[in-house]
Amino acid sequence: MADKNRWEEYNESELNELDALCGEYKTFLNNGKTERECIKIIKSMALEAGFKELKGFADLKKGDKFFIEKMGKTIALFVMGKKPVEEGINIVGAHVDSPRLDLKQNPIYETDGLCYADTHYYGGIKKYQWLETPLALHGVVVKKDGTSVDICIGEDADDPVVVISDLLVHLSQKQMSGKANEIIEGEKLDIILGNRPAVSDDEDGKEQLKKNVLNILAEKYDFEEDDLMSAEIEAVPAGKARDCGIDRSMIMSYGQDDRVCAFASLKGILEIDEPERTACCLFVDKEEIGSVGATGMHSHFFENVVAEIVALSAGESELKVRRALENSSMLSADVTAAYDPMFAFAFDKKSAAQFTGGLALCKYTGSRGKSGSNDANAEFIAKLRNIFDDNNAKFQFAELGRVDVGGGGTIAYIMANYGMEVIDAGVPLLGMHAPYEISSKVDVYESYKGYKAFMNEMI
Ligand code: MN
Ligand code: MN
Repeated sequence: MADKNRWEEYNESELNELDALCGEYKTFLNNGKTERECIKIIKSMALEAGFKELKGFADLKKGDKFFIEKMGKTIALFVMGKKPVEEGINIVGAHVDSPRLDLKQNPIYETDGLCYADTHYYGGIKKYQWLETPLALHGVVVKKDGTSVDICIGEDADDPVVVISDLLVHLSQKQMSGKANEIIEGEKLDIILGNRPAVSDDEDGKEQLKKNVLNILAEKYDFEEDDLMSAEIEAVPAGKARDCGIDRSMIMSYGQDDRVCAFASLKGILEIDEPERTACCLFVDKEEIGSVGATGMHSHFFENVVAEIVALSAGESELKVRRALENSSMLSADVTAAYDPMFAFAFDKKSAAQFTGGLALCKYTGSRGKSGSNDANAEFIAKLRNIFDDNNAKFQFAELGRVDVGGGGTIAYIMANYGMEVIDAGVPLLGMHAPYEISSKVDVYESYKGYKAFMNEMI
């Protein structure tokens, strides 16, 4: 910790590069507030950098750049290496889903002069943090004929926002003396949509507030209430990513878990041309609810993609697919907790990630005796140290909090099931899973350098 602060070590061109990267990162956050929106941006950035859809290739050779996506919620980018795929792939895997409030399938109702949307929260949240903060609605409504409509309300300066109310402090004696997890029930996280009745003369006068809201939605997006049954609408904090701190040293934004690692690794792979081993960035969904489902890391999506690549580069071979997976190396690129002096009790300072410390490597995650963790191999860690040092990418070792305090998992253990080398390597955040999370610009920049060096050089 006696090291010079990283800011003091940068020369002018590095500072310019850091600024440009973080500017682009904020745009990425602003345009990618749902997993679907993130996949869209990743795809368009990949196309611009010369990547093509895998299905357009008759065969694959070194230097080929391609992507394959699933359900618009997960995508894998590859740059074919000089070595055969069966010798392994250098994978950086991040997730693009973030904690939020999902609208239920029959969400809109009115009561006592207010129209509401019912929600069901997604991922681990402190529920009280979502009260009295401006929310935007993002998502997709798919109609019976298969046409789909993208929804976004609350992001333009002229747009209205929506909100969940909290109880006034004057009447909160009971609420304030209770437990924080009982401040608001999940079932009460209902969003206020309006309180103005529809203007009509032909109706029975029932549910005019709800009718008005549905009319406005129908006018703008052309769908009916029943279409919400086949919709995915997410309430997320409204507004843009901002520089944070008087010195602009940090970024404050919704959804940095895990779009910060997604962005940093994406920037890395877009700049890779002919790596030794095939390079891959994986952007998955559903990490926040256990990596389940067709678009989560537990699905066979990635394995199937590797089988396609083996077939197109070396001929169909189940054995080569297994070898490719087992010989691969992976950085499980997910955020970790930055040391917070205001909550020092939760951390072992010597083993906590520090802002400006760079890419945080967690040998193991898990909780209570490393339960549920992937424990990375020392030999693999030694190789990584060498690559990061050679490329001047700053890194640090971290654990998520004090031994007995808690813990958390990532996608690392899932990929380790193939027998590949995996370690958690991500950007430290303050306030992880809060509506607005905080990152240090230095760590965004150093992580980008680290991910890129790993994809280029790990053998
Ligand atoms: Mn995460
Ligand atoms: Mn998370």
